[in-house]
Amino acid sequence: MSDYAFAPPPLAALPAPPGTSFPVRRIFCVGQNYRDHAKEMGGNPDEEPPFFFMKPASAIVHDGAAVPYPAGTRDLQHEAELVVAISGGGRNIAPERANELIFGYATGLDMTKRDLQTELRKKGRPWEMAKSFDCSAPCSAITPKAKTGALSRGGIECKVNGVVRQRSDLSAMIWPVAQIIAFLSREIEIAPGDLIFTGTPAGVGPVVSGDRIEAAIEGLAALAIEIVEAQSFG
Ligand code: MN
Repeated sequence: MSDYAFAPPPLAALPAPPGTSFPVRRIFCVGQNYRDHAKEMGGNPDEEPPFFFMKPASAIVHDGAAVPYPAGTRDLQHEAELVVAISGGGRNIAPERANELIFGYATGLDMTKRDLQTELRKKGRPWEMAKSFDCSAPCSAITPKAKTGALSRGGIECKVNGVVRQRSDLSAMIWPVAQIIAFLSREIEIAPGDLIFTGTPAGVGPVVSGDRIEAAIEGLAALAIEIVEAQSFG
């Protein structure tokens, strides 16, 4: 093959201690996977199968990052989520086999332009630009499943400037991780490097520049970011 026309973009990766990095291929996200959050978004948690959307791998930012307040919103919101890091692959995975695909787990934030999302929903347009913008997927280091076992419970929490905004338990998910993997694998072929953001509990809310967001899940590496003034491009 001939040379690339320009240098290929760097591969997004997450630290996976001890001593390795997890190369990120794609980011899948589950919508409305906790009853209380589905209700606060106006959904019906009891009748819907899980649904998915995506973010680009380039949306990853690491623990400790300063994240510029994005353009095109006046209502940027935090959604703290369990992130599943996949090292196996396949189609039509049975739920009983799904845990075999998991490399480990991380703590993530599905950052959302809520005002834009609401507007796009009303118009029947894709949410894409409300979810898939630059720096929209802050994610902690990955804790290997070898250390945690298969996760199905544990506290999940999000604080803004030290004040708790979200507090729940992974056991409150409508669709547990194995079911999510099974459903997703009917839609696409899952592959090593995929991340799955598994949905957020109630308590999502706005952040402004200067805010410090801390997300934590029992037994996993924590995540803290700071929202900073957007850079001017003048
Ligand atoms: Mn979410």
